[in-house]
Amino acid sequence: MSFSALGLSAPLLKAVAELNYTQPYPIQLQAIPAILQGKDVLGVARTGSGKTAGFVLPILERLKSKPASRNRHVNTLVLVPTRELAVQAAEVFKTLSAHLTHRVKTLAVYGGVSVNPQMMALSGAEILVATPGRLLDLISSKAVHLSEVETLVLDEADKMLHLGFEEEMNKILALMPARRQNILFSATMGSEVAAVVEKLLHNPVEIRIEEEAESLEQIKQVAYNVAPERKGPFLRYLIRQGNMQQVLIFVSSTRTADNLVDKLNKNGIVAAAMHSKKSQGARTEALSKFKSGKLPVLVATDLVSRGIDIQLLPYVINYDLPRSPKDYVHRIGRTGRAEAVGEAISLICPDDRHHFKIIQKKMGKRVEMLETDDIDLQGA
Ligand code: AMP
Repeated sequence: MSFSALGLSAPLLKAVAELNYTQPYPIQLQAIPAILQGKDVLGVARTGSGKTAGFVLPILERLKSKPASRNRHVNTLVLVPTRELAVQAAEVFKTLSAHLTHRVKTLAVYGGVSVNPQMMALSGAEILVATPGRLLDLISSKAVHLSEVETLVLDEADKMLHLGFEEEMNKILALMPARRQNILFSATMGSEVAAVVEKLLHNPVEIRIEEEAESLEQIKQVAYNVAPERKGPFLRYLIRQGNMQQVLIFVSSTRTADNLVDKLNKNGIVAAAMHSKKSQGARTEALSKFKSGKLPVLVATDLVSRGIDIQLLPYVINYDLPRSPKDYVHRIGRTGRAEAVGEAISLICPDDRHHFKIIQKKMGKRVEMLETDDIDLQGA
């Protein structure tokens, strides 16, 4: 089925075509008609499924024929757990609304940057993408009102709860009219999320996209047995040997991230770190340079990595293994999305072997382990 059969009008189809989206993803096939009909939607799907366009397109379609909302009274609120997600979702709204005749203004607001520019920019915004804390700040200073919200999207609801935003979320929900459309996406459906679903959604259309097993097939996985003291040089050797132009490296702590970046840069490999102790400005800059191909190596911790949407990432390296097998799948799932084949590389020290076995067992897939003792790392 094509996008045009889903009930989207020409300006949106044009924007979709410009992004080279030829076919709707499964989640879009189900979410777009349901949201267009004004129904509540529960989507169990993670980043990479195409969920963002799945809600952005029908929301824009419905908004485009409505009179503009009153100033500082947004029509659509998208709540997200992190700044990165806020920026990304707002980008998708902006890109997909490019050809609409009635200009729809989208704004992303999030903490960690000064509030004044956001207050000013809120004037005329109809779609607001926000993290909970900053949104409450803006509401209390009357920079924005939620009394006319017609559509609410809760994106990555599990992460929102995991990060402890429940109280903020409840305060925000209380400020919106009872009659509205609610859309909730979550990667997992634990009991906490189920409670929110129960409270928030009315007869939702349920969409479940189980894609992990399938997408793993697209990923070439390999592991190297490395002595701890040879990890750094071996990493540089890999990057040079593979002529890697875009590689996301996962580490277990902010300290390792900073040390690794330091070492890479000293050895002539341009790299930047992305973790929770970096300023928002530094994080945004690193991510955007990495996405556009100007920064070849990004070193990240799990905390900030979730939800980063990078198209067609060719390489992911686990410099440190994650604790949970789920996180392993999540990390490597960043490569080999859609039709592209990606490579996921793990560096395994003797102490990690047992844990890596457990990861493979949980994933249901064996990963080839290569020895590295004979590789000459002199000069790496
Ligand atoms: P999301 O899960 O919303 O973060 O989207 C994952 C990635 O898929 C993003 O890079 C989108 O640009 C891309 N994408 C979304 N829908 C389509 C589509 N129908 N065809 C091709 N790529 C898509």
